[in-house]
Amino acid sequence: MVTATTPTYRLISDHSFAVVRQNIANDQKAFFAQRRYEAGEVLTRFSAGEIHSKPSYLTVQVGIDQHIMLQPEHLQYINHSCEPNVFFDTSSMEVIAVQRIEEGDEMTFFYPSTEWDMAQPFNCNCGTKSCLGEIRGAAHISAGIITNYRLTQFIQQQLHDRNNPE
Ligand SMILES: [Zn+2]
Repeated sequence: MVTATTPTYRLISDHSFAVVRQNIANDQKAFFAQRRYEAGEVLTRFSAGEIHSKPSYLTVQVGIDQHIMLQPEHLQYINHSCEPNVFFDTSSMEVIAVQRIEEGDEMTFFYPSTEWDMAQPFNCNCGTKSCLGEIRGAAHISAGIITNYRLTQFIQQQLHDRNNPE
């Protein structure tokens, strides 16, 4: 009997620096590096497509009641991990490596690094040592943990405002 332990993927689209692949078993799409990156390197730039006042599972938060659709759209396939290797800097509008990424690695980001209070919380299965379980946004993570992550200026401001009520 053959037991599948590593997922089988089908190529969905090629963006030269990275590719989107779909897991045959569960249909989930994911984003994979096509070359090595060092921590701090800019992988690509992005911009705001539509801007929504309410979050969805496809949006990235850039301000209070400001949630952008990512352009280019394929960046939406960068999944969450509690030990991410990329960061969406919503000030410089760059996707930045936060640790070394080897060619072929899946690119992941930490949703609460941009999201304050998520519309669709989920149970994380990233399997990393620091997995936080239920992911609901930065507002729901203790200060001791959230500050270990690189956070957007918006999230840093939200944390600051919460700790310094007027
Ligand atoms: Zn996790």
